[in-house]
Amino acid sequence: MSAMTTEAHPIDEAHASHLDEQDPLAQYREQFHFPMKAGRPVVYLTGNSLGLQPKAVQELVNQELEDWASLAVNAHFEGRDPWKDYHEQFRGPLSRLVGGLESEVVAMNSLTVNLHLLMATFYTPTDTRYKIVIEDNAFPSDSYAVGSQAEFHGREISDTVIRLKPRKGEYTLRTDDVCDLIRNEGDSIALVMLGGVNYLTGQLMDMQTITQAGRDAGCIVGWDLAHAMGNVPLKLHDWGADFAAWCSYKYLNSGPGAVAGAFVHERHHRTDRPRFAGWWGNDPKTRFRMGPDFFPEQSADAWQLSNPPILGMTPIKASLAIFDEIGIDRLREKSLRITGYMESLIHQRCGDRVRILTPEDPAQRGSQLSLVVEGNVSGVRDLLEERGVVADFREPNVIRAAPVPTYVSYHDVWRFVDVLAELVEKASA
Ligand SMILES: *Cc1c(COP(=O)(O)O)cnc(C)c1O
Repeated sequence: MSAMTTEAHPIDEAHASHLDEQDPLAQYREQFHFPMKAGRPVVYLTGNSLGLQPKAVQELVNQELEDWASLAVNAHFEGRDPWKDYHEQFRGPLSRLVGGLESEVVAMNSLTVNLHLLMATFYTPTDTRYKIVIEDNAFPSDSYAVGSQAEFHGREISDTVIRLKPRKGEYTLRTDDVCDLIRNEGDSIALVMLGGVNYLTGQLMDMQTITQAGRDAGCIVGWDLAHAMGNVPLKLHDWGADFAAWCSYKYLNSGPGAVAGAFVHERHHRTDRPRFAGWWGNDPKTRFRMGPDFFPEQSADAWQLSNPPILGMTPIKASLAIFDEIGIDRLREKSLRITGYMESLIHQRCGDRVRILTPEDPAQRGSQLSLVVEGNVSGVRDLLEERGVVADFREPNVIRAAPVPTYVSYHDVWRFVDVLAELVEKASA
């Protein structure tokens, strides 16, 4: 499909070290804490599940603890980073990551909460247009969220939720099939809400084309960016997406249960659609008059409910500073290269005993390969652990490995594939 094909890399360990020497992002590894195993940092390939802690986090959290101790309520105005406007500092960096305007993004709540808040506005079914399209292998929380929205509106899930399945014998979706379905059933579809990058297969969807198809058919198009934010470049504003939400603890490295985010396209900022309101969504000019009437801000902030959890938000500050310094395009460059390197080593060292579910086309994936190991893999967890490799294993035989470009080295990838080759050897013995 793509003009880009995987380079065949030499498989020796020295070549891995050579690639690290040439890696312009190699020094960023030093800015993160790595768990240790037998005196050396683990090979950490689960940054798609929980990103590593930036070393700068601790001092920033301490600063807020100190301001709380020494200033208490006055820290809202007099803190070193006043809490009153605390969330506003994330607009710049988040807008650069989603490819949107500063007014289109807000850091708030957690991901599933944001999906519900956005669906309260953007899923308003009628008798004829009421269906919701998701992927068949959507993350369970997304399935529950759309299902419960359907029921909340008095509808049967089975009649409302359309689950997109790959073709027989294939693992991932084809853009044409998604667009055909939207075109054919468009009149009855209220909402298309897919993952930008699928959590299980690592497939990066053609968000621009699908958004266009959805909007042409009169549907609302929302994206779950849990595995896309900080992983691949996005252009939500230009693509015309209606809304999006993401979590910040995966590629965004902002800590367990970190404060999530949302995008609402500019054209909806003066919306007449329903919205669940809270005081932090009120225009700051009148927010503290404490009146009974809601005057929404003309931005994504209008969907905020509460004053933000400062301690929970602080790690985002440390993390987004690193993204801003590197820039998502340079990250993507390394991501393509290191993911291709991993793929090349797997092909050469494991042959067809490891099947890769993730698309081969680099334009259709981020920094994750989902691998199926053939044969008896009962010992996989123990072996990975013993060798100091942290990768995600799902029963019965899927390993998900994310060579996150911010902090994973080429030598880490080499170590991982070395263990994988050993595993394959054992599984087929
Ligand atoms: C990780 C993930 C979630 C998790 O939801 P939380 O509300 O953050 O617990 C939801 N959806 C997708 C697609 C995910 O990848």
